[in-house]
Amino acid sequence: MADPILIIGGGLGGLTTALALAQHGLASRVLEGAPEFGAIGYGIQFGPNVFHVLDRIGASDAVLEKADSPPAILMFDALSGKEVTRIPTGPSFRSRFKHPYVIIHRIDLHNVLLDSCRRNPLIMLVPDALVARHEDRGDGVSVATEDGRSFEGAMLVGADGIRSRTRAQLFADGDPRPNGFMGFRTIVPMGDVTADVQRDIVALWGGPGFHIVHYPLRHDTLFNIVAVFRRSAHSERGDVAAYRAELEHAYRDAHPTMKALLAMLDLSRRQAVGDRDPIRHWHKGRVVLLGDAAHPTLQSLAQGACMAIEDGLGLADCIAAASGDYEAAFRRYENARSLRTARVTVESRYIWDVYHADGVTRDVYWQMLGERTEADTFRCLAWLYDGFALPSTH
Ligand SMILES: Cc1cc2nc3c(=O)[nH]c(=O)nc-3n(C[C@H](O)[C@H](O)[C@H](O)COP(=O)(O)OP(=O)(O)OC[C@H]3O[C@@H](n4cnc5c(N)ncnc54)[C@H](O)[C@@H]3O)c2cc1C
Repeated sequence: MADPILIIGGGLGGLTTALALAQHGLASRVLEGAPEFGAIGYGIQFGPNVFHVLDRIGASDAVLEKADSPPAILMFDALSGKEVTRIPTGPSFRSRFKHPYVIIHRIDLHNVLLDSCRRNPLIMLVPDALVARHEDRGDGVSVATEDGRSFEGAMLVGADGIRSRTRAQLFADGDPRPNGFMGFRTIVPMGDVTADVQRDIVALWGGPGFHIVHYPLRHDTLFNIVAVFRRSAHSERGDVAAYRAELEHAYRDAHPTMKALLAMLDLSRRQAVGDRDPIRHWHKGRVVLLGDAAHPTLQSLAQGACMAIEDGLGLADCIAAASGDYEAAFRRYENARSLRTARVTVESRYIWDVYHADGVTRDVYWQMLGERTEADTFRCLAWLYDGFALPSTH
């Protein structure tokens, strides 16, 4: 039997790749650095584009069972509390984009993919395998783990996230670019929500230098909150009292509803926000990158995981079509994916600036958004939510 394909990273991108490869009869080994395969437990939003992939790997029904579909995404002014704009995600959205917009607990999503992987004899999941280095031997690859094990494969997929070691070894292009913002994430039981907010929608409160996103999870039993604010130094270490003081200062002019949301936050851990400038090529020899390792993005379009999942299917299809010619497969994959993922990065930066604008600039953005009709909004999102197609081999 041919050597399996090695996949570093058992996140959403890595697992999707393994499942999509298996559908072509290709075996893989997924090496995950954490002691167990699993996800950090926060919410995630999925655009309709991701269902083209979930349909292909047979995961749509299981995902939909765990997910909720909000009636709308609403944007509010964080100072006045007034609605700025909305994207209706009900029947008209579904009829236009053929699939729903959903919100789901990341752990539930991860488990759907993991269960499918475990049932598939072509996929071997290897937890506790933190990869230190890889070697491309020309006719195959090998990787060495921190604890001294080694694994051999036909080729290597680096699906190891925003701080990818595979990328560092391939391109040595430094760390991701922090954008000067820090974020906190929290999930609370719905019964503990004290803020006077609409609970069934995805809401974004945009303010000068800060924003909050919230939405329900697990059929309205949980409430997911992400709070972000601009900060000159982006240390991820500190104590809760200091974080609280900083947040209160950053959000001092915010609407009382936002302050009530802040009071519900778990401040034990915060994360610097960042991305990378897009690049056109994500491979060298028999090693290729995917998901956040290839094109990490700000979360303002809520598409990083969707892109990692789309990459997984696109890459698997290209590998299968190229019958062992990995160079051809990787070029076709990059052609299919690089402009689309770069556009997600670039538009996410633009939207980030819109959320956090101040003064007259802010008034201009709000006016532009307020003028949009539903048809305008759907047209602006079509390039993204209609999904992607692989370029032909000819
Ligand atoms: C606050 C926030 C909100 C977000 N919301 C959304 C959203 O609503 N919708 C959306 O689509 N996206 C969202 N994203 C983006 C999304 O989380 C990422 O884009 C997505 O997780 C990328 O998937 P991935 O598989 O490429 O990488 P990851 O999910 O980071 O997985 C990488 C895996 O590789 C493993 N690993 C790393 N190094 C090694 C190593 N050396 N050896 C072995 N294993 C290794 C890690 O343990 C991990 O399991 C959000 C991000 C943030 C920060």
